[in-house]
Amino acid sequence: MKLPFVLARRFVAAETFKETVPKIESINMDGIKVTLDLLGENVEEKTTADETVEIYKNLLTNIQDAGLKSTISIKLTMLGLDIDPEYCKENVFQLLDLARELNSFVRIDMEGSEYTQMTLDIFREAFETYRNHVGIVVQAYLHRTKNDVEELADMGADVRLCKGAYKEPELIALQDMNQIREAFKRYTKILLEKTEFPRIATHDDELVNFVQEYAAERELSKDSFEFQMLYGLREETMKELTQLGYNTRIYVPYGTMWFPYFKRRLMERKENIWFVLRTMFKK
Ligand SMILES: Cc1cc2nc3c(=O)[nH]c(=O)nc-3n(C[C@H](O)[C@H](O)[C@H](O)COP(=O)(O)OP(=O)(O)OC[C@H]3O[C@@H](n4cnc5c(N)ncnc54)[C@H](O)[C@@H]3O)c2cc1C
Repeated sequence: MKLPFVLARRFVAAETFKETVPKIESINMDGIKVTLDLLGENVEEKTTADETVEIYKNLLTNIQDAGLKSTISIKLTMLGLDIDPEYCKENVFQLLDLARELNSFVRIDMEGSEYTQMTLDIFREAFETYRNHVGIVVQAYLHRTKNDVEELADMGADVRLCKGAYKEPELIALQDMNQIREAFKRYTKILLEKTEFPRIATHDDELVNFVQEYAAERELSKDSFEFQMLYGLREETMKELTQLGYNTRIYVPYGTMWFPYFKRRLMERKENIWFVLRTMFKK
């Protein structure tokens, strides 16, 4: 059964790129940049992965042609990571060739822990060739991030730090929110100290305030990092941060395959479920 898009529209901009453009323009008008995410996960057929590479390439070109202040975020499982990591890497490199040509940027999102090592391996190789056209994500809840964040910072990688959105066992990830927040703060410090322009992705006031205070204490310029939030969440906060002079970027998902993303957002906060229920019953 296909659920109606009206349910998802709180968190998903639109089902097509064309319908997404006005939303990006409106975000850009507020001085906020965008990273665009074509929704979809876990491609099992090479033909589908090949098609996805072409769609992503068109996306990079269309963003440029439309004059939007937007980069893209990709998921490696959409580019064939489950089929063959080497084949997936070739797909990523094809995309990065174009990103470099257009002077654009591709962020590799981080997925569930079964993909972490493969994703980091592909990123490392990509970074050697494409440097400031490619970035990666680390998840504060993973135990392994303690080492990964140091390594990535030493490489000078462009890193987005988030808490982590997938259900992981205790052996692999912290379960307690206070511990996750403390880890997030430790990794924020490392990234702010060692990397040129870390991206801090959270809606959590405690963490947003921490970053602001830490940066001020250390006399770090507001221009040396970026706050990132998801489309449909905390729009006013994003505008306020922008007006205060911080760099801000909204992660804008679009596409017809919105269900898994939508489900993750619902599981994260009960307020999100209420919002969707209200949408369902509103004419
Ligand atoms: C730009 C971006 C990119 C991401 N990329 C990835 C990725 O590649 N891989 C991945 O695993 N995860 C990714 N995530 C998701 C991330 O890991 C978390 O699952 C998600 O951000 C929820 O954690 P949180 O810190 O934002 O706040 P939560 O833990 O959901 O909430 C903590 C507190 O923040 C406040 N808060 C949260 N939302 C609101 C709201 N709407 N209004 C008011 N207060 C609110 C409340 O005080 C709440 O108690 C990304 C998140 C963002 C923002």
